[in-house]
Amino acid sequence: MKALIWGESKETLSEKLLAMGEKAFRATQILEWIYKRRASSFAEMSNLPVALRERLEETFDFEAAKLLTATAAGDDTEKLLLQMRDGALVECVILRAPQVVGDEPRSRKTVCISTQVGCPQGCKFCASGLAGWKRNLETGEIVAQLMTVCRLGAQKGDRGVRDTGFTDFDNIVVMGMGEPLLNYDNTLAALRIANAQWGLGVGGRRITISTSGVVPGIQKLAEEPLGFRLAISLHGASDTVREQIMPVNRKWPLAELLPAAKAFAEKHGRMITFEFILIAGINDSPEQARLLAKIARELHAHVNLIPYNTVEGLEWERPSGNRQMAFLKILQENAVPATLRREKGHNINAACGQLRLKNIKRES
Ligand code: SF4
Repeated sequence: MKALIWGESKETLSEKLLAMGEKAFRATQILEWIYKRRASSFAEMSNLPVALRERLEETFDFEAAKLLTATAAGDDTEKLLLQMRDGALVECVILRAPQVVGDEPRSRKTVCISTQVGCPQGCKFCASGLAGWKRNLETGEIVAQLMTVCRLGAQKGDRGVRDTGFTDFDNIVVMGMGEPLLNYDNTLAALRIANAQWGLGVGGRRITISTSGVVPGIQKLAEEPLGFRLAISLHGASDTVREQIMPVNRKWPLAELLPAAKAFAEKHGRMITFEFILIAGINDSPEQARLLAKIARELHAHVNLIPYNTVEGLEWERPSGNRQMAFLKILQENAVPATLRREKGHNINAACGQLRLKNIKRES
């Protein structure tokens, strides 16, 4: 299979061009065509010699993914199902927060991307975990998700709030299928392309990496100079409760996870976020809320409470509205910045991995 052009950075592309006997400055021209002018073939790159365009065509694939479906829900969520070159199904989700910019109604658009096909982490609330891990996504396949969103936005005239002219969305969250820190190199390479001025130009503060708690990955990320944000799927404020939900906790318990999170926050001077799915009778007790408040206060972290999203094949339930509010109140009384997330995409299976799982089931 040919290399994906969307997986190339300015450095790697320059090196490859030099090895082909070309001048390195061609890399700048090619990347400008891809990310600024949105070319969809080498043939369009009219300032490159025809012979070079033909060699590029022979060396690189332009299309990493085919868009199979784009399913909209009434609540400002859209889920894209993409098929990779080997047939693997990958999803990415567009989340919109409507607002008015000047006189014009616009939406703040956040793109949630995947980093693996399936996932090895087996979090008990997650459909991707049920289906198991297949492979890591290549850098170009991760960038392809962002480029697909850009293309869709351009076709529909549906831009984000910032509207740089190059990106049609505002934020990236790496929170889709897969554990990004177990596909560290490809994920970081893709995010560097998203972040680069020659790439999509998305600022580091607008990019959030979400992890199930892979401690060595958090430690490595802390050393990166990129300034991305970090979210940790906590879902339990004690080892006994967290282990019921997150098998990863047996490998890296809270005693290892929390110091790594603290080191990241201190190094980057950024508030981290704890994601906490509220599951009835499992982790929604006042005691868990008090323990969570203690952890979040010590780390100056923000807590994002997410009412459990029903997954076919799992018997857990979402707590009542009163129970959710009581949990939130304990955090607020302890001066922890916390939000109770409004439901997004419940009726289009937007919990990670659910759409893909349904397609696989339908095919089998
Ligand atoms: S929640 Fe994320 S890390 Fe956990 S199994 Fe699902 S995709 Fe993997």
